[in-house]
Amino acid sequence: MSSSSRRAETSDPSAPLVLHVDILLLSALGVFTLFALPRAAIRLTRLSEWSRGLLFYSSAGPRRDRSPDADPPSDGGSRKSSVSVRAVNASLKPETTGTSCGSGTPPKHLRSWSAAFPGLSWLLGMQIRPGYSVGRLVLIYAYIGVILYAGLFHSNPFTNPARAGMVSVSQVPVVIVLGTKNNIVGTLVGQGYERLNYLHRAVGRMVILAINVHAISLLYDLVSAGRWSLVVTVPYLTWGLVALVCMDVLFLFSLNTFRQMFYHVFYVTHVIASILMMAAACMHSPEAQPYVLAAVGIYGLDRILRMVKTRVATARLRVIPELGMVHIEIPHINAGWRAGQHLRLKVLSLGMGIWGWTEPHPFTIASVSKSPRGDGLVLMCKKAGDWTTRLYSLAHKGMDGESASGKRVTVLIDGPYGGPGNTVLSSFSGAMIVAGGSGITYALSTVEELLETRAAGSSRARMVELVWSIQNHSALFPMVPLFSSYIERARSAAVTLQISVFYTRAQTEDLMQSLQILPPGLDLLPGRPHFERLLHDVVDRTTELCAESHENPSGVLVGACGPISLTEHAGKVVRNLDRQTFKKVGGVELQEENFAW
Ligand SMILES: Cc1cc2nc3c(=O)[nH]c(=O)nc-3n(C[C@H](O)[C@H](O)[C@H](O)COP(=O)(O)OP(=O)(O)OC[C@H]3O[C@@H](n4cnc5c(N)ncnc54)[C@H](O)[C@@H]3O)c2cc1C
Repeated sequence: MSSSSRRAETSDPSAPLVLHVDILLLSALGVFTLFALPRAAIRLTRLSEWSRGLLFYSSAGPRRDRSPDADPPSDGGSRKSSVSVRAVNASLKPETTGTSCGSGTPPKHLRSWSAAFPGLSWLLGMQIRPGYSVGRLVLIYAYIGVILYAGLFHSNPFTNPARAGMVSVSQVPVVIVLGTKNNIVGTLVGQGYERLNYLHRAVGRMVILAINVHAISLLYDLVSAGRWSLVVTVPYLTWGLVALVCMDVLFLFSLNTFRQMFYHVFYVTHVIASILMMAAACMHSPEAQPYVLAAVGIYGLDRILRMVKTRVATARLRVIPELGMVHIEIPHINAGWRAGQHLRLKVLSLGMGIWGWTEPHPFTIASVSKSPRGDGLVLMCKKAGDWTTRLYSLAHKGMDGESASGKRVTVLIDGPYGGPGNTVLSSFSGAMIVAGGSGITYALSTVEELLETRAAGSSRARMVELVWSIQNHSALFPMVPLFSSYIERARSAAVTLQISVFYTRAQTEDLMQSLQILPPGLDLLPGRPHFERLLHDVVDRTTELCAESHENPSGVLVGACGPISLTEHAGKVVRNLDRQTFKKVGGVELQEENFAW
């Protein structure tokens, strides 16, 4: 291709148009930020909220850091299972239960937009397909419309390939910012990065579509003119080809099926291909450079913040056989997160395999920050695939060989991330926390935070219902001491706590008898939870308790974490709640957490 045709391509008036598109997208972000502002302002009026949920640290205060041999030795025959259960019991059992309502002030409650406009929220929250509500699809299609306008306005993609190329590079900073863990967009709109992942994917697909249109059109011209060899002899064209290949690799390796099966390959190719693509785009066209530099700045900042948020610590691993989980406790990190946040964990042990120690995996924190019981940071990791199975074996071997307090390993944790955004859990009068299987980690930290803030006098919560759905009722067994301690603490903190555990598999009589003695407030029930009835009960109890203490109810929070079918069912129940029930409690708000993106 001659230099004049290249100049013609680069001096295309597309440049100001795509810049205007980015300004339009920034303006849309500004509007969403304005919507999020009232809640952010209310949250940040409390000084403590400025630093919560940003960095892990070790706080002075009660700390339960027993010596590794403090747990009683186990006996021969039934050694493995009894050690596991006893070890878990020991770690979950409270050592202090006496708490009283402190002198803090409860936070102000501001209704969310969804609670203020339930009709609109019902419509936008309707699920069209898993993970995609009407609201999300409206945003995606609006974005596609804007990009098609930018690509096609007064331009034919077959005669003006430069336009599609410009559209593609102009969206690179957008796709990068939406994919970062320390997400500026998420901070502005009060959402964790994982909730914006659907937008990251939608923007990524448009970038890939645009770059392919650009390339196909150019290649068609070259091939029809018999000059296709220029692609390898003219450097800027070769760089363009490299950028195209990187983009297509990104696309293929991000496909859902591939990502589910080979997450680590997806992750590594994603990082390498993105970096290479940005470098190649700069070499291909000078007009791409400002956009690529913006993207590099955003990506670089995210990487620096990740380093700042990374901690190396010693962790104790123990298996919980009944749950098929590994209980990880990091005693020396005990503060800095909010309930519902997660971290990325690397286990620096060759027991994880040759490459296993390099893989970061996300896990929700299952304990409360600055626990008055002295707990450190707790994770509970379920055996799901290769990496988690290796973790389980490592923990299991440790319990065979080392003391019953568990295997000690060095871990690298990066976080905290995600979480409730501008929602202040303790500003609600009631909460119904629904968990399925390993989603219990989210429920544990949330319930515990509600109890602790109430005990400190800085919560409005009067009624908390924890609903846990499990397959096998034996999964409840190792959790009984912890649940009992919650009930005890709820009593002294003047909160009504009800824990209902539902199991779906038929059980043998003798196993059932071992769970006969459950404390009041903890129920084990067969079948699936009836969310609608449970939610009505929570609303009624919350309203009554508020009336008894002459308070206006400030809403009920429904938090749901587990399989997507469970969280979507919970969401449907919230959206379909009748207006009268909704109004009398001051609104019902939904918070969904899924262990996938
Ligand atoms: C925000 C978040 C919080 C989570 N919290 C918990 C928790 O508290 N307890 C718990 O038991 N599980 C949790 N998970 C799930 C846990 O991260 C996966 O089960 C684990 O990473 C699977 O790894 P694997 O190699 O053993 O299984 P695989 O068979 O490789 O993967 C099983 C599934 O997990 C996904 N996955 C694998 N590796 C990753 C990764 N590095 N990042 C994201 N997804 C991955 C795969 O796409 C696949 O769908 C959470 C996941 C997310 C996204």
